[in-house]
Amino acid sequence: MQELTHYINGAHVKGTSGRFADVYNPATGEVQAKAPLASKAELDAAVEIAAAAQPAWAATNPQRRGRVMMKFVSLLNRDMDKLAEALSREHGKTLPDAAGDVQRGLEVVEYCVGAPELLKGDYTDGAGPGIDMYSMRQPLGVSAGITPFNFPAMIPMWMFAPAIACGNAFILKPSERDPSVPLMLAELMEEAGLPKGVLQVVNGDKEAVDAILYNDTIQSVGFVGSTPIAEYIYGTGCSQGKRVQCFGGAKNHMIIMPDADLDLAADALIGAGYGAAGERCMAISVAVPVGEETADKLIEKLVPRIEKLKVGPYTSGNDVDYGPVVTSAAKENILRLVQTGVDQGAELVVDGRDFNLQGYEDGFFVGPHLFDRVTPDMEIYQKEIFGPVLSTVRAASYEEALKLAMDHEMGNGTAIFTRDGDAARDFAARVNVGMIGINVPIPVPLAYHTFGGWKKSVFGDLNQHGPDAFKFYTRTKTVTSRWPSGIKEGGEFNFKPMD
Ligand code: NAD
Repeated sequence: MQELTHYINGAHVKGTSGRFADVYNPATGEVQAKAPLASKAELDAAVEIAAAAQPAWAATNPQRRGRVMMKFVSLLNRDMDKLAEALSREHGKTLPDAAGDVQRGLEVVEYCVGAPELLKGDYTDGAGPGIDMYSMRQPLGVSAGITPFNFPAMIPMWMFAPAIACGNAFILKPSERDPSVPLMLAELMEEAGLPKGVLQVVNGDKEAVDAILYNDTIQSVGFVGSTPIAEYIYGTGCSQGKRVQCFGGAKNHMIIMPDADLDLAADALIGAGYGAAGERCMAISVAVPVGEETADKLIEKLVPRIEKLKVGPYTSGNDVDYGPVVTSAAKENILRLVQTGVDQGAELVVDGRDFNLQGYEDGFFVGPHLFDRVTPDMEIYQKEIFGPVLSTVRAASYEEALKLAMDHEMGNGTAIFTRDGDAARDFAARVNVGMIGINVPIPVPLAYHTFGGWKKSVFGDLNQHGPDAFKFYTRTKTVTSRWPSGIKEGGEFNFKPMD
């Protein structure tokens, strides 16, 4: 059995707490490795190393820091297949989807190559007689990030790339379900030229998270995961005087207007509802057709598409639409919620409960499910299922559909499918959700915009990546200066490189 490590001060280090988490191959159900769960002492020791490494890194000019990011991008591309394979093996998602996970992280690293431009301050020449005033953005010191299982490459990079580009040291506490790729990323960052100790990976569970929250050296904490944990980390981190941003769960609605291209909408729902086995915070889990006729036609188009879905292990290559869910506990929870839907009177149009994959009977595969006539009082509507289960809530009008999305406590993403520019514009303007798709089912903003939901999908005010990340990982210092006129230097005739 492979024993995974932490990545501390440039080396793979074995855990000393004596506690481990099983890391499964979700396709076979086998335990393939064990991940060490750090004690408070192990976490605190890593923070001390980070604090010692950070000042020299902060003093390295932003252009050089950007060059490390540039080299890291080329190493990610070099190792793309290796990273995707390791990711699929622990997470279960298909290989192309795993490569997409790496790619969407890589794009944020590309953005961070622009650190010198992004960290440029503001300057007022002549703010008063002989007075100049300038503001600069300085790193916070040591930052930490706690990440979920469902994007083990992308979300760590969304956090550590901007944090490090800004001159911070970073402690990453990845999900204990799939920690191998984060460890590989830390190695690659050092191969790219990052000094030891600036990026460290400490594996762990609640004990390591609490050690982060109560460590006085750590200045900021980023979290992505489920809403109850987001709420806990936000409250505790803020009470400890840290800067905290937490991104939580989702229940994303897609509204299908009567004038929509229903083939387009059905295809979109298949990818957004069942892709990655529904284990995406931007998955569409609720379809809201407007009008009975739209609903009937939509269901008619969805059923054959769902029946054609190919579910299987990532080793089957491009032949598979989605893989297993991450653990047997996740599978049980999904099937339990499906049962509540049946019990509470929703119509289970496609029933995946008996799904069984020959040769992979112990894998955590869940067949696709489609519910119709779901109502807002049902548990399957209120809770995030995080599985291949699409619920249809029929709305009588556009206003009723809009109200549904607005009244749900989650507000990560939403979409509208329509040919009517007026309806689309109205929806985008009024809906109280952070990321909106117009004829786009999974509207994940690109690296140079920012990512974040509203309502219970977020705790904190700044979004992930884009310009917000450079604000989150720096603090502003403003200098007011007055200089008496002094002795002028002689000429300098040659270019000199910056140190
Ligand atoms: P999770 O909340 O179980 O775990 C996330 C992290 O928190 C992990 O690192 C885990 O070790 C840690 N953790 C778990 N329990 C803890 C506890 N009691 N105390 C302290 N730390 C704890 O989430 P998950 O199952 O890994 O990920 C799925 C969830 O993440 C879904 O709800 C999904 O919607 C959400 N998610 C949100 C976004 C977003 O940007 N909004 C993106 C991806 C995933």
